[in-house]
Amino acid sequence: MATATSSDTESWYSQRRGQIYDTLATDSDGLSTEEATNRLSEHGPNRLPKAKPVTVWQIFLRQFKNPLIYILAIAAIVSFAIGEGTDAGFIAAVLVVNALVGGSQEWRAERSSQALQQLIRTRATVIRDGETRDVDGEAVVPGDVVLLESGYRVPADVRLVSTHGLEIDESALTGESAPVLKDENWESDVRTPLGDRRNMAHAGTVVNRGRGRGVVVETGTDTVVGRLAEDVTSVEGGKPPLVTRMERFTRVVGLVVLVAAAVTALLGIFIQQYDAVEMFLFAVALAVSAIPEGLPVGITVALGVASRRMAKVGVIVRRLVAVEGLGSCTMIASDKTGTLTANELTVKQVQLPDGSTFEVTGEGYTPEGSVLQDGHPPEPDSADELSRLGRASVLCNEGQLSRRGEEWTWRGDPTDIALLAFGQKLGWARQSALGAHPQTDEIPFEPEQRYAATFHRTDDETQVFVKGAPERVLEMCTAASEGEFSQQALQQQANEMAHDGYRVLAIADGSLEPDTGTGHPPPVPTELTFLGFIGLRDPLRSGVAAAIVSAQQAGISVTMITGDHPETALAIARDIGLAEFPAEVTTGAELVDASRAQLEEILETTRVFARVSPEQKLKIVEAARNMGQYVAVTGDGVNDAPALRQANIGIAMGKMGTDVARDAADLVISDDNFATIVAGIEQGRIAFDNIRKVIYLLVSTGAGEVVLVLMSLGAGLPLPLVPVQILWLNLVTNGVQDVALAFEPKEGDVLNRPPRSPDERIFNRIMVERVLVAALVIGVIGFGAFVWLLDQGLSEAAARNHLLLLIVLFEIVNIGNARSETTSLFRLSPLQSPILLTGTIGAFVIHLGAMYFPPAQAVLGTAPVGPEQWLVLGATALTIAVAIELHKLSWTARYPRSERESPSQTHEKET
Ligand code: ADP
Ligand code: MG
Repeated sequence: MATATSSDTESWYSQRRGQIYDTLATDSDGLSTEEATNRLSEHGPNRLPKAKPVTVWQIFLRQFKNPLIYILAIAAIVSFAIGEGTDAGFIAAVLVVNALVGGSQEWRAERSSQALQQLIRTRATVIRDGETRDVDGEAVVPGDVVLLESGYRVPADVRLVSTHGLEIDESALTGESAPVLKDENWESDVRTPLGDRRNMAHAGTVVNRGRGRGVVVETGTDTVVGRLAEDVTSVEGGKPPLVTRMERFTRVVGLVVLVAAAVTALLGIFIQQYDAVEMFLFAVALAVSAIPEGLPVGITVALGVASRRMAKVGVIVRRLVAVEGLGSCTMIASDKTGTLTANELTVKQVQLPDGSTFEVTGEGYTPEGSVLQDGHPPEPDSADELSRLGRASVLCNEGQLSRRGEEWTWRGDPTDIALLAFGQKLGWARQSALGAHPQTDEIPFEPEQRYAATFHRTDDETQVFVKGAPERVLEMCTAASEGEFSQQALQQQANEMAHDGYRVLAIADGSLEPDTGTGHPPPVPTELTFLGFIGLRDPLRSGVAAAIVSAQQAGISVTMITGDHPETALAIARDIGLAEFPAEVTTGAELVDASRAQLEEILETTRVFARVSPEQKLKIVEAARNMGQYVAVTGDGVNDAPALRQANIGIAMGKMGTDVARDAADLVISDDNFATIVAGIEQGRIAFDNIRKVIYLLVSTGAGEVVLVLMSLGAGLPLPLVPVQILWLNLVTNGVQDVALAFEPKEGDVLNRPPRSPDERIFNRIMVERVLVAALVIGVIGFGAFVWLLDQGLSEAAARNHLLLLIVLFEIVNIGNARSETTSLFRLSPLQSPILLTGTIGAFVIHLGAMYFPPAQAVLGTAPVGPEQWLVLGATALTIAVAIELHKLSWTARYPRSERESPSQTHEKET
């Protein structure tokens, strides 16, 4: 076969349509599997160059890009300069260890997010061995015949051979935002810019509308985008706002501390006449205590844990910001088909224009069953009309249902497959029907147009077959296959079917004048003959009703948004306990002219939005956000992308969703199930709780040390802890516990309380009070202990050693306090959190090591203490539990549950 070199890639568009199969040694039946395998090894996988992945090194170095680290580094350098070599070395070692811990966590997060992205990689629909198949996008080879459909990415560079209203968004390649209407017949001999090659579709662009078919001419790095060597599919990274906020917080703290420490040192030296070296050490100690060194790592770990836990329940996080946002979600606007229902449609009922009703037996897509009237085969008259309906059902269809041995296999839109199974029950197989009626053109189904039509050549005329929403199809009809045609009466008949919970499709056929042809693009069909209604059942997804109850208990309102008929939508809403009365249903048409005030009122009372177009969906989301709702929106179609972006949390479907919807979403639900969204919200809330716990633990210890250092300075005492000891407390012992806190399981029923206000600060009232109480206990009692130890005649070094142990014990007790903001420490079994227990014991063992291991003793100034001291210090450390228990009691007395959980006053932290 002809292997294209990059010099001819430019000219694929000037190839004649007729030549293209020959040039690429293929034909309209596609390649054989064997040939495709050969070509794959020849050309390599169809993979675009990815944006260069970050290296371990980059991640490691990134850990040092932090003003806090700079302060510590300066401290190390100055320590070294003034002869404190051990201190300098220790600080440097701590910095490296810190970077290693932070870096390894980030690396892990990076890798798992890459692995998760793999789950939602692009698939391509190709024809191989004469059959339509879904293959991995990377397996596409030159010569493959591919099918293009709205919402999906073009897998490779393709010379089109047929198009039906095919519009492609090429903005990723050309920057031109208006979609380009493609035409397989367009030809050009002259050089044509990329954006004007209307017979080509390029890798990395997406289909906005319509359908197309073409031959792959280039794959992977030989495609236009591949040669640009740009990753057009990459998701913009960006740090979650929480991380940014925390970084800003640590930076401000760092700056304040630096200035305060410098001022203290200068005052000490020039007014109090302290020794300059000692003052410097005081200043460094102050800085090191106040800086929450472990915070960035703690939060990164907590978010990483959250996204792994979400993946476990089936939620793939595309943007970390969503993890944080989920805890604030107040409203879920969900699709019906596929999310609340299973999207496993079966035709259950047929009504002919005269109202005669037939039941269709059989379950699922296997076409075993029959069409019966009151349990008997239909009369010959009806049988003819049913057969005509069956033919239209299989011809106006994009699905595929075929038998391989004993097994039936299918692919395509569930509505289409259901109609194929139904047609087969009436004796119509699509392939043989197509043989007798070759298809010449089509108007493919798009949700906003709500119908589909196909055009077929018979002996001397063109026939058209149409299926779609009753009101759309009836508009196009002027006759019925039997009896009088009355649009009104028939619409009534359809409404009644919908009222019974059927998804209703109307079917019609017609013919065009022999010589008119269809034109391009084909006109909306008219003067059709109405053939009947088809009622489809879509089973509810398991767990949906329970998930709706959980969501409502969690203070989240649930709204259904569907393109389906209001009656059908209401029937399903009733089954899942979402709505009861017609007054709770609003149609898209009613939204069109609504003013903002009216919209708000509609949103207050509506549970179900029906016959909604994607544009109207966007309007609903905007109105909800204007009302202050924090909205999660699901979407699967190509036109849902704006609504997904507009939402606070855009959710796409992993199975049925289009590439476009997934690209626009923050989260992808791998099983398409509504219940999974609620499970994700639960995880989001747990993550946020854990982040607060991490912050509390770190900040309270740091603030306690600040109090301790300042009190000693004020009292004219020596430094109570040397900088390395403070670093040890903040980064090593607390660090271990902190990472463990990020793994905390859920505390109580997190879905049993209202959503967090998105504006609420981390340092809200309870946090500020709690941190102050803990800091005062650690600082004041620590200071008292230091004074007492010195009074007992201990040397400075020995007193520091005891004080250090006391604070480690404080930390250990305080981690018990951190496990809940309101529940007593004594009501939480340590066994519920094995990781935290291990972390706490680990921190303790590390400190024991430091006390008994000579090299560590040399650096940290530690030494063993006697059993009596152990007892006294252990008992003293329990005071922090008593204090926080009292604060918990006082808090719950002041703010009973209902008030407590509403956004309380907010404060910035002042330490
Ligand atoms: P949903 O919200 O249930 O996913 P859609 O937007 O997919 O609704 O469909 C809207 C309407 O379009 C349906 O109620 C049905 O009448 C019609 N419809 C759905 N699928 C098809 C199809 N494949 N061909 C023709 N009409 C369809
Ligand atoms: Mg749909």
